[in-house]
Amino acid sequence: MSKLFSELKLKDVSLRNRIVVSPMCQYSAEEGVPNEWHLVHLGARAIGGASLVIAEATGVTPEGRITPGCTGLWNDEQAAAWEPIVKFVKRHGAAAGIQIGHAGRKASANRPWEGDDHIPASDPRAWEPLGPSAVAFGGNLPRVPHDMSKDEIAQLQRDFVAAAKRALGAGFEWLVLHFAHGYLAQSFFSPIANKRTDEYGGSFENRARLLLETLSAVRAVWPEKYPLTIRLGVSDFNPEGQPMEESIELVKQLKAKGLDLIDVSLGFNSPDVSGVPWGPAFMAPFAQRIKEEAAIPTAVGWLITQPQQAEDIVAKGQADLVMLAHQELDDPHFPYHAAKALGVAQPHQVLPSQYAHWLKGR
Ligand code: NDP
Repeated sequence: MSKLFSELKLKDVSLRNRIVVSPMCQYSAEEGVPNEWHLVHLGARAIGGASLVIAEATGVTPEGRITPGCTGLWNDEQAAAWEPIVKFVKRHGAAAGIQIGHAGRKASANRPWEGDDHIPASDPRAWEPLGPSAVAFGGNLPRVPHDMSKDEIAQLQRDFVAAAKRALGAGFEWLVLHFAHGYLAQSFFSPIANKRTDEYGGSFENRARLLLETLSAVRAVWPEKYPLTIRLGVSDFNPEGQPMEESIELVKQLKAKGLDLIDVSLGFNSPDVSGVPWGPAFMAPFAQRIKEEAAIPTAVGWLITQPQQAEDIVAKGQADLVMLAHQELDDPHFPYHAAKALGVAQPHQVLPSQYAHWLKGR
């Protein structure tokens, strides 16, 4: 019996298997409003058999977008535009999730295929990035962020809450708070980016404060019956970043405030990634450690490309869910192909009838 193709129930959401479409920015929205590109991109992957399709990093404010083409949830027009996309995903048997966040000092950038660098401050498309401190990320993102006041931190939390309410209204049933990849929340936790001397910087308790407060505020409006999850960069693989022990303690504290699952990822608070132990499924052991030490369900991605690899991660209990991004772009029917490769009975049933009927017995 394949564990990858076993169901998982988290709160009131039942997932048909353990294959999740990882949030992937499409840089294709206008004024933060998703469109037919997002419908086809996300819809195709629901058709392909994934159990949970998570929409891209979506800005809680205009300034929270990574690029001008990123989606948003700061107004009702955006929420209304997500609705048909959510309906389509659910109609084809996948749960619909969304990742909300603020890009912090990495905001105001060009699309990856148009430079992947900060838009020059003089360009009318640019805006001022925010950060915990006036410290630039560096490399291709040299702009020095504006260090946030406490009023701005309080407003940020209200923006997360408002976006969560809109996500709920649009029909999403799985929420991911983006606490990874060097974006704003992650940068507050990281001693690489956070040099504050007030109660939001310095000690572990202070660097964790914004993340804990934000999760608590969102939990208060996000229904108990739906999973509230985070993507957390558990390590920068850099001696100047937070130690893994701090990440584990943070997850324990977030769990006490209502966190249901953690998607275990990297910090990326510095352009120097030379310490990252790149290799097949290299984050899986970290997911296992968090799962065991913080006693919480985990999800994990990164260099997971093969059905057996995904199967082994779930079967060994390293993670409850496998997050696929590049592999799902390469093959939106990865779940169907994985079911065949793993010898799952009636693999065509992973697909909707419109396709399954014609693929029966193949
Ligand atoms: P993959 O296994 O496909 O990709 C791993 C990434 O690691 C690639 O971007 C690759 O960079 C980089 N990488 C691999 N080996 C090395 C190395 N030796 N040195 C430096 N960099 C290396 O992982 P996933 O598909 O699971 O994606 C990982 C994350 O990226 C997920 O969080 C996913 O959500 C996100 N993602 C976002 C996308 C988007 O926003 N549009 C698209 C795809 C993924 P390179 O490509 O330069 O080789």
